[in-house]
Amino acid sequence: MNQTLLIQGIAALGGSLSDTQLSQFAAYSALLKEWNQKMNLTAITDDDGISVKHFLDSILPLYHIQIPPNASLADIGTGAGFPGVPLKIIRPDLSVTLVDSLNKRITFLEAVCRELGLTNVTCIHGRAEELGKDNKYREKFDLVTSRAVANLRVLGEYCLPLTKVGGQFLALKADGVDEELSDARPMLGTLGGGKPQVIPVPLPESDMVRKLVLIPKEKPTPSQFPRRANKIK
Ligand code: SAM
Repeated sequence: MNQTLLIQGIAALGGSLSDTQLSQFAAYSALLKEWNQKMNLTAITDDDGISVKHFLDSILPLYHIQIPPNASLADIGTGAGFPGVPLKIIRPDLSVTLVDSLNKRITFLEAVCRELGLTNVTCIHGRAEELGKDNKYREKFDLVTSRAVANLRVLGEYCLPLTKVGGQFLALKADGVDEELSDARPMLGTLGGGKPQVIPVPLPESDMVRKLVLIPKEKPTPSQFPRRANKIK
């Protein structure tokens, strides 16, 4: 990673890093590069990209929305751990569940948690729409996040069933999400979601703008959702 970009970027967001957090990000970056030679984890492997497009991008929500202390967070389709792992590094109080349908990525994430000494993180190999049917996970999370997994209509069906009533679903999107959101609105409401809030945020150390799409869970999700993967698509 590019340490200077990461430190400057977090300072621009109004935050700072402890020595422990800095070494956790450095270890994470090293593991990402090492394992990426053996398996396909990410297309972004340059130091600047890891700091800006992975680490800073993942932690943006912490500086724009309130996440209560000790909240439970599920990151759906986390891949190599984004945004779930950087969020956990900055907010060690969170109890984090990382979910991905590819088992090799889960093996990587377990190694990351071990090497970085992250506690209270559960790595689950599974599909979001299957977890959403399981009472162990259904409507159990204060915050459900997802980045770069699907469009908002599909993502709503993956994430809102897992979100507690009173909790929030947060999609990390690139700029230009408005049409996608208006297409998804009816389905998000059916799934128990309230009025979406779209928060445009500049990504530090870049000329990019990200959109945080925050949807409050207002009502329980009807029992017929989530449907099977082929139905959702
Ligand atoms: N969120 C990460 C990021 O932003 O770098 C990874 C994005 S990657 C493009 C999409 C990930 O979602 C893949 O790792 C894939 O295995 C996972 N995925 C896709 N559909 C899923 C589902 N229904 N349930 C769980 N994981 C899923």
